[in-house]
Amino acid sequence: MKKKFAVVGYGGMGSWHVGHAQKSDVLELAGIYDIDENKRTLATERGIYAYSSLDELIGDKSVELVTVAIPNDVHLETVTRLLRGGKNVICEKPVALSSEDLEEMIKASKESGKLFTVHQNRRWDIDYLAMQQLADSGEIGKPIRVESRIHGSRGIPSDWRCHKQYGGGMILDWGVHLIDQLMLIYKNEKIATINCVITNITTDEVDDGFYLTITFESGAVAFCEVGTYNFIALPRFYMKAEKGSALITDWREKTKVAKCKYWHENDVLPVQTAAGLTKTMAPRDSVTLDEYELEIPKSDVHNFYRNVVKAIDGEEAQLVTHDQVRLVLKIMEQAFKSAELGQTIKFEY
Ligand code: NAD
Repeated sequence: MKKKFAVVGYGGMGSWHVGHAQKSDVLELAGIYDIDENKRTLATERGIYAYSSLDELIGDKSVELVTVAIPNDVHLETVTRLLRGGKNVICEKPVALSSEDLEEMIKASKESGKLFTVHQNRRWDIDYLAMQQLADSGEIGKPIRVESRIHGSRGIPSDWRCHKQYGGGMILDWGVHLIDQLMLIYKNEKIATINCVITNITTDEVDDGFYLTITFESGAVAFCEVGTYNFIALPRFYMKAEKGSALITDWREKTKVAKCKYWHENDVLPVQTAAGLTKTMAPRDSVTLDEYELEIPKSDVHNFYRNVVKAIDGEEAQLVTHDQVRLVLKIMEQAFKSAELGQTIKFEY
């Protein structure tokens, strides 16, 4: 049976959740609540019930599940009120602005016995899934270095995201997704150090981009970069692994794989560079290298909500766990610390 569902915050992402629920096979939309009366009127005009207050929503006992899609600085209060009011809660990312806030949410979830999870929807992106499945399959061996980049050229949005007090900036906005993905690709590795450099090209108040290097105890490296002032974009994903390399140029492109068949080569044909010949940097030929493309993975983002509903009913474990979101938040906190100190820092779990 479908779960009665409501959304708090009827802005950009809240509207997405509403639209998603209207098509869902596991949710039945009960309504929305937004602090802004104009948003409530807009919802009503669209035929969606608008609760007049959070208390009215909490008082509607038919609603079992609520998604919170409001600016980052106000997640804590709304999430804890809903959990303590008996609702299962999905919070938008980034879940909180500090580990202390997250622990309060987890405490409210444990004490109320209600499910609490985070909308890490980019786990269903096909570019990430292709990299994660390639790493898991061992087809080109263990990843030595994975680089994950997103490059835009319009600066950061001019809404609350450009203000520190609301939890703005690109580490919290996009970094949270890229770090979450990388930690699932490298799920068995222990982090040794963190190095982060942030950029302030278009605004000083928050980071408008960053370069983050996570070095694992094994020596493997996860790197991610967000840029909002890149008029030529670098590829979305690059993986250097024990037996080959992989590249995804754009969000929905196929993965190009180059797998080393034989390490040893007999006759290397040098390439001509401006300053002379090089064999070291000459490309390999098909005798020693296998080059091919991977099929695009199948993905359905509705599976996030399907999992949440099954987890509420005790039929599945929740996919986005407290431990995972705790780790991503710690990485972001220590990324800010590293950037502030201008140093690589030892990671504290
Ligand atoms: P937005 O500014 O478009 O909408 C926020 C809405 O929340 C507004 O309508 C505002 O009136 C309302 N609001 C503010 N405080 C409130 C409160 N205390 N109670 C009720 N309503 C309140 O912002 P957005 O882009 O929708 O972002 C909302 C959240 O969703 C953020 O946490 C953001 O990081 C996240 N988000 C996630 C994704 C994703 O892909 N997972 C994408 C975009 C945004």
